Amino acid sequence: MTTSILHHETVTKPRTLERLITGQATSDGAGVKLTRVLTQPLQRRLDPFLMLDAFGTDNPQDYIGGFPDHPHRGFETVTYMIAGRMRHRDNAGHEGLLTNGSVQWMTAGRGVIHSELPEQEEGRLEGFQLWLNLPAKDKMRAPWYRDIGSAEIPELVTPEGVKVRVIAGASHGVAGAMQREVTEPLYLDLELPAGASFAQALPAGHNAFVYVYRGGLQIEATDVPVQRMAILRNDAGSDGVVLRAPAAARALLIAGKPLGEPIAQYGPFVMNTNEEIFEAVKDYQAGKF
Ligand code: FE
Repeated sequence: MTTSILHHETVTKPRTLERLITGQATSDGAGVKLTRVLTQPLQRRLDPFLMLDAFGTDNPQDYIGGFPDHPHRGFETVTYMIAGRMRHRDNAGHEGLLTNGSVQWMTAGRGVIHSELPEQEEGRLEGFQLWLNLPAKDKMRAPWYRDIGSAEIPELVTPEGVKVRVIAGASHGVAGAMQREVTEPLYLDLELPAGASFAQALPAGHNAFVYVYRGGLQIEATDVPVQRMAILRNDAGSDGVVLRAPAAARALLIAGKPLGEPIAQYGPFVMNTNEEIFEAVKDYQAGKF
């Protein structure tokens, strides 16, 4: 759905660029090739976000195995498909098909076992998976799941022609498809025509980053090339970010309020303490998920 903008984002003191990150090529699940953009050493810095994977390939050998049954506990997974079809099934009885432009938002909470399998044998598969941490008080809540079809994601077009898909949070007065109280995540997919710029208000205390997946952007005077993540500095007194597109570009802009809680991760379990991790492993092995 395309909505008109309700108000302009005013940014008078934009954030500066802290550093550029090149993702690490890796594979996960049953041999799915992907780029881990937000890796474990960045979890503190980008709290409440724990991981961002980018996958994109025309070669079925890179994705055909998918992600067979595996567990999660303690956080949320947000999968955004740009191209292709993925089938989700979990042991809480949820099933859904992710297609072009759609999002799956899954709260693992106290535990789910799910599979994420490509429902195609050829063609392009492209998308992202973001892990959003849960506050300690919500880590053991009941699992939850929502498929957000492409048509349900609010879209707006700025006067400069920037197309904004508001997956979570709000932009230009338009509320996104999802809201989360404690971490207040902002998740925007931006399509900028050549020469356009885009401003987004951001609280200075929220951690924020941009991932460019087509073309390239400029932040202040610095180039952010394709397949790079730009971490935005939490400059005191800053009120947002301004992105410029010298050529046509597509990028994700993601921000959230840090939890400031201890992070203990063992593979697909993210809790606050090692004791809680041992408990997660024990519960999973005992079939309690
Ligand atoms: Fe998973």
